[in-house]
Amino acid sequence: MTKILANDGISQSGIDALNAKGFSVSTKKVTQDNLINTINKENYEVLLVRSATIVRKDLIDACPQLKIIGRGGVGMDNIDVEYAEKKGIYVINTPAASSNSVAELVFAHLFSMVRFLFDSNRKMPLSGDSDFKSLKKSYAQGKELKGKTLGIIGFGRIGEEVAKKAIGLGMKINIYDKHIKEKNITLKFFNDEEKVFNIKTEKLEHVLKESDFITLHIPKINNTAFINAEEIGLMKTGAGIINTSRGGLVDETALMFALDKQKIAYAGLDVFDNEPTPSIHICMHNAISLTPHIGAATLEAQSRIGTELADQITKIYNK
Ligand code: NAD
Repeated sequence: MTKILANDGISQSGIDALNAKGFSVSTKKVTQDNLINTINKENYEVLLVRSATIVRKDLIDACPQLKIIGRGGVGMDNIDVEYAEKKGIYVINTPAASSNSVAELVFAHLFSMVRFLFDSNRKMPLSGDSDFKSLKKSYAQGKELKGKTLGIIGFGRIGEEVAKKAIGLGMKINIYDKHIKEKNITLKFFNDEEKVFNIKTEKLEHVLKESDFITLHIPKINNTAFINAEEIGLMKTGAGIINTSRGGLVDETALMFALDKQKIAYAGLDVFDNEPTPSIHICMHNAISLTPHIGAATLEAQSRIGTELADQITKIYNK
């Protein structure tokens, strides 16, 4: 029986799918130091990880029976992919499994921003019973998303899901993508009706200037920020910025400066510089809606990650 070590866990649906095809799956967490020893001693052929377990050259060299290294999720920074592939190991991941979850989180932040939920949730427990009227007044200038323009930077898997949801809400969309000029996207409705939209992308400057909110869905580029003071300068006064992509894509100092000067009204951040120890100034800022990198952290995404990995493993083993 082929043995699989899912060292950072895998959904029950993934385990069930693998068991049904005759694989045995261990979800026992092995410490990084004991990983090589355990893989060899217990004869694992497949190692599945998320972001916690590191798979470098030393492990790849020391475990010659490994056939597959699987990453539940997208980023492969924790795996020496090229080296593993050179050694004939299959390296697989599940890039599309979490797109819808990340897109929904974008709207969680957007709705939170325009009705000040992030601030209200901080202040109601402290003074809701004594300052109700003044709190009510301070959140009186809410806005609707309907009719507003969402600027989407990056029209890949997540950017496309975000665009569909924005259209569903009655928003306008402005999209910039370095490589995509146009794309057909299909909205599917509850009654199986479908509507296809042909979306053409725009110049970055246009997207920045004409949007009420900017949301980023691009990879990290050489550790440099994509949204700096200059890009913020082009944006509408009172706009919002959302980053659920990678920490560092928005320059945090420039963002806080723009928030303090009220050039930018609010921001929604799921990702941060220096994770897992983000700046306390960002965490305490009263115009930022915050989540601790939970874009893919839904039961549905985790379940899809498990079954997509199971699918790919089954195909590789021809089962
Ligand atoms: P994707 O590869 O499907 O799409 C990325 C798009 O960005 C592509 O269309 C590409 O052409 C475009 N692009 C690349 N460089 C660009 C640039 N310099 N300027 C403009 N466009 C550029 O990726 P995805 O699956 O949509 O993921 C997007 C981001 O979301 C990634 O950074 C990923 O790491 C992140 N992510 C975050 C979470 C989370 O938990 N918050 C979960 C999953 C993914």
